Order: sequence, then C-alpha cells, then structure tokens
Amino acid sequence: MPQAMRLLPELTTENTPFWTGGARGELMIMHCGQCDHAIHPPELICPICLSRTVAPRAAKGTGSIYSVTVNHQQWLPGLEVPYALAVVDLDGEEGVRITAQVVGTEPNDVTIGQKVRVQFDQACDDIWIPQVVIAD
Ligand SMILES: [Zn+2]
Repeated sequence: MPQAMRLLPELTTENTPFWTGGARGELMIMHCGQCDHAIHPPELICPICLSRTVAPRAAKGTGSIYSVTVNHQQWLPGLEVPYALAVVDLDGEEGVRITAQVVGTEPNDVTIGQKVRVQFDQACDDIWIPQVVIAD
C-alpha cells in the first residue's frame, strides 16, 4: 500500500515501543513493574496499582482470533478490499487484545479461535504496523 495513502499512528512516549518494535520483529507490550499487569493500549501509569514503573516487554507474537470483521468499504485510496480486520487475544499477555489486519488468507476464511502469528508491515521509517497471519 502506498505510504501516503495510510493513516499512521502518532508516536507518543507511551506508544513508541509498540509501533517501533517491529523493526526488531518484536511486539512490545507495556507491563507494570509492580504488579506485572499487561497494559494495552499502552499507558505510563498502571491502571491497576497506579505504579509509574511501567516498561515494554516483547510478547510471544502469537495469539488467537477473538473476533473478525470483513471490510468491503475502501476507506482509503489504495486500500485493497475486501480485507479481514481481527481482534486478537495475545498469548502470554492476559487481557491484552490487539486489532490487526489478517493477511495471507481469504478474508471470508478467517474464523474465531484460529491461531495466528504476528508479523509487521513497515509503514514508514519508524512505524511498523502489526499484522497477523493464520498459523494453523
Ligand atoms: Zn500495576
């Protein structure tokens, strides 16, 4: 997809590890240093114990499909439709779900519960968008 055609996230102190970790192939999830709660979307204060000792940690990079929608609307020029957008439960990151495009599979073949693996699409110099592929 052409770079100019995409909506890119704005990098902030709290979300930079998440959007840039793909350069190393790592899906970075914030964790609380006090209670180990996984914090996503990323924040700099733990919502459970209010600790400020939070730090990013690489997730396993696997998960399962929690829900999926097939989009037929071309929201952006250059966006290929239809495409499947999934909410993914991440393995080893209790309570954390990410939203990601499912690539490499017919959108209508994506089903809830399928195992997936995270990969990254470099959207620009600094930003790597997590995508998932079916791991079955
Ligand atoms: Zn905490």
